[in-house]
Formats: sequence, C-alpha cells, structure tokens
Amino acid sequence: MPINVLINGAWGRMGQEAVKAVQNDPELELVGQIGKTDDLTAVIQQSKAQVVVDLTTPAAVYKNTLAIINAQACPVIGTTGLTPEQIKKLEECCTQKKRGGVVAPNFSIAAILMMRFSAQVSQYFPHVEIIELHHAGKLDSPSGTAIKTAEMIATVRADQAAPKATHENIPGARGALHHHIPIHSIRLPGLVASQEVLFGGVGETLRICHNTIHREAFMPGILLACKKVLMLDHLVYGLEQLL
Ligand code: NAP
Repeated sequence: MPINVLINGAWGRMGQEAVKAVQNDPELELVGQIGKTDDLTAVIQQSKAQVVVDLTTPAAVYKNTLAIINAQACPVIGTTGLTPEQIKKLEECCTQKKRGGVVAPNFSIAAILMMRFSAQVSQYFPHVEIIELHHAGKLDSPSGTAIKTAEMIATVRADQAAPKATHENIPGARGALHHHIPIHSIRLPGLVASQEVLFGGVGETLRICHNTIHREAFMPGILLACKKVLMLDHLVYGLEQLL
C-alpha cells in the first residue's frame, strides 16, 4: 500500500519539486497539494494524509507542525527557521503522542556528509568559521544547515577546550556567533544553496564545500523521510538520524 503524502507550500520552489518527486515514487501517493489559503487540518482529515511535507515559511512552520501532529499525521519538515525552543516543544509533543516526525534543515545527503566530515575534522582543527551562500529569496539567516553544522561541531568540541572566536564581544563584520563559531551569510540572486566550512591550523587550512546546483538534490532525502517517518514513535532533528 503506498503512503498517503500531502505537500504544504506546494506552489513554492521546493514544493513544486517535492510534488514531482512524490508523484514519481511508486511507494508514495500524492493525496493533496496546498498553500497558505487552505485549511491544513481539514485537508489532512479529508485526504487521509499519513505524512505531511511542510515547505513553507519560517513564520508559519511551527503552527503548521503542531496542526499536522494534532491531526494525527506525521510531519516531515523541510522549512527552516524553527528555534531550538520550538524544536524541543515539537519533540515533546511527538513523544507524548508516540508520533513519528522529521525536522531536517537540509535534505541533501551530500550536505549531511559535509556536516559529518566537519564535525570529524573539528576534533583535530578546532578553529573554524562557516560561510553559507543562498538565493536572495531565503528569509532566514543564518541557514538552518549552518546552525546544525555549528551544533554538530560543538557536540564534538564539548569534550575539548574549544577555542572562542577571536572577535567575541568586539564590534565589526565577523559574522554571527553560534556555539562560539562565526557564521557568515551571503544572499544573492543566482545562488541556490552552498556552504563552506573553513578550518585553520598551524601553517595550513582545510576547506569543506558543498554546492546545491538544483533543488532536485533535496528530493531523495525528502522521499526517504516520508517512508521512514511512519516507523518512528518520536521526532528526529536532522536527516542524518535516518541514514
Ligand atoms: P518559496 O518558494 O517562498 O515557497 C514557500 C511557499 O509556501 C509559497 O508558495 C508560499 O505561498 C507558501 N506559504 C507561505 N505561508 C504558508 C502557510 N502558512 N501555509 C502554507 N503555505 C504557505 O520558498 P522555498 O524556496 O520553496 O523554500 C521553502 C522553505 O524550505 C524555506 O524555509 C527554505 O529555507 C526551506 N528549504 C529547505 C531545504 C531542506 O533541505 N530542508 C532546502 C531548501 C529550502 P506564497 O508565495 O503565496 O506566500
């Protein structure tokens, strides 16, 4: 039996790609495509959606995710901009209802590997800065991927004497700090999504880069999450938890 999937934000750039990807997957059934004028709860009930993929906006995503969980469907959240407090509340809500959920700031498998490699490298090269580059229409900054990368590096560095960024508390243009790691956000037309993680050592540097050339790159991760989320009884944050 195919899994019933509803796409919220279906008329957006990511939403349109997700609609095509779900339609082309024989294990999934697209039961609806909706946007901001639709009643999310009512459509979930009418369409019998088991999984709802949310690709909307930072302002709408928390309310949407709660509505999805309360309507007895499993959320697969690609929209970025959820705060750590909101993610914690959504985790608690899913655990209480024994409902599977996935929140992934990046559904690209290569981007997940870039984050994993970055965390690994930080064991040996603790001095690091992140540059993320996105299209001009991206509403949030820094990107969810950059924040997640900083979190993964911080987890590894927690056991070590992690260096503070040299400019902390000094005004200038040295990026925003997350877990003491400077993140520099670039927003320009022509870009899709890229990230560089730069490590500095004694007499050498190491640079890990990931470039998204087309939004199709995110689709295998979204399809994987739609299939695996029904087997979960809690919410996971990060596609790497499913790989
Ligand atoms: P987009 O082109 O602006 O699309 C967003 C869509 O959501 C629009 O059609 C918008 O409608 C609609 N929308 C706005 N508020 C809504 C609501 N309350 N309920 C339902 N739909 C609503 O943006 P995008 O480039 O597709 O990106 C969407 C999100 O995905 C962003 O947060 C982005 O950062 C994220 N993203 C995630 C990944 C990942 O791998 N996790 C990758 C790329 C992008 P209107 O245009 O009419 O306002």
